[in-house]
Amino acid sequence: MAPLHAVVVSFPAQGHVNPLMNFAELLGMRGFFITFVTTEWMDERLLKAASKDAAARDRDVAERGLQFRFLSIPDGLPPEHGRTADLGGLLLATQKLGAVLEGVLTKENRSVPPITCIVSDSFLACTAQVAANLGVPRVIFWTCCTAYSIAQTNANFLLSQGYIPVKEDDLKSRDKLITCLPGKIPPVRPTDIVSFYREQHVNEEIYGAFLHESRFQNVGDYVLVNTFEELEGGKEAQLGLSINGCPALAIGPVSLPNFLEGRNSMYSIWKEDKTCLQWLDSQEKGSVLYVSFGSIAVKSEKQLHELALGLEATGYPFLWALRFDIVEGKSVELPEGFRERTRDRALLVSWTHQLQVLSHPSVGGFLTHSGWNSTLEAISLGVPMIGWPYFSDQFINCRFSKDIWKVGLDFEGVDADEYKLVTKEEVKKTMRYMMEGFISKEIRENVSILKEAATKAVTEGGSSYVNFNRFVEDMQNMSK
Ligand code: UDP
Repeated sequence: MAPLHAVVVSFPAQGHVNPLMNFAELLGMRGFFITFVTTEWMDERLLKAASKDAAARDRDVAERGLQFRFLSIPDGLPPEHGRTADLGGLLLATQKLGAVLEGVLTKENRSVPPITCIVSDSFLACTAQVAANLGVPRVIFWTCCTAYSIAQTNANFLLSQGYIPVKEDDLKSRDKLITCLPGKIPPVRPTDIVSFYREQHVNEEIYGAFLHESRFQNVGDYVLVNTFEELEGGKEAQLGLSINGCPALAIGPVSLPNFLEGRNSMYSIWKEDKTCLQWLDSQEKGSVLYVSFGSIAVKSEKQLHELALGLEATGYPFLWALRFDIVEGKSVELPEGFRERTRDRALLVSWTHQLQVLSHPSVGGFLTHSGWNSTLEAISLGVPMIGWPYFSDQFINCRFSKDIWKVGLDFEGVDADEYKLVTKEEVKKTMRYMMEGFISKEIRENVSILKEAATKAVTEGGSSYVNFNRFVEDMQNMSK
């Protein structure tokens, strides 16, 4: 019998490709044939960062016993377009990719089994029509937390209720708790919802693109969320994403089983620095601050300087993943003499293998932009955080880490004004709170409980493990 065939389609950004590839691998290990689709731009970045060509990648997956085929499609943008530096523009471009995607999927290829389902990134509305035209189930994969996902799928409803666009100057309405969303989730505030709905960001086209996405984000046959039930309100929470009885299941953290079993499946668009781990080996247990703002967030030069001086003032050793495009439109310049003064206790690299770093015993805390993958990784590996959100869903991840899960801290005022300058004194003070004293003790205890829960969730008999199995079985049944 031909194997089941999942077409996994990822939005072309780091925080999407990584969980979708990890999920695709998990399916591959259950015998699925996988077609992994992303854009040409993304595919080239992945290959370049891994220093591999497509043939070497095909050999690698085949040697691991996986049946994978990688397809890339043009995104229709000119070469000079910033892609993830202009996420709104990229989103608009992907909304037009349906016909191209359908074209590559229907091209006759006898070596490929018939398609069982399309696993679509939740930010790819165009796959709804493709799945309908091909007559196969559409599985929507959410790369964000459940609460955010529910708010985003209900964006048009929130618009009709006047919660969005968020009225920045109207404190009462900005912080009003929204309790009318489905699913068992903690109340969210308008400012928790994706930042593209905030007045200062409202760009009609992008705003429209997000509202368009929301109409297709739970329209399908299955919803999967990269989270785990013990973190987010049990089974009932995910049901807020279900319509017309469509199953909605938490199956994450999807990168954890691969990592725990030593498969180290990290799909980076930047070349990883290999020296970090050796350097971490030379540091004391729990002493190092890890600083990284993911693949997209940027900072002003002034802010970067305050941060550097704050890190210097803490006296702690630190590992800083400092992308060379962190300052928009400029190369990185740090305060004069900073590198020399911190040389004996700091390592600056452009990109790390974040799971390896976070799981290293020397790492005692994480200053993060609160991207969902980074948040989930820190929780799964038991590292307390300071959240410093930049945009998108990062505000809700940061607030939940601090107020609901109590595994992190934040800088005062950033949730209301992400352009607020965080001073070196604030950096130093908050780092201290994370690294020592009673607040540190409390968040460390909480995060280690959640670490255990995450590990349990993905191991045999755990909630995500059981949910993943149910999904596999349902796909097997649907294809009979
Ligand atoms: N990441 C990494 N090395 C780094 C920084 C980030 O491997 O130096 C990975 C991180 O582990 C996560 C992803 O990049 O899986 C970033 O996703 P996230 O959702 O946190 O943020 P985004 O980049 O989408 O803003």
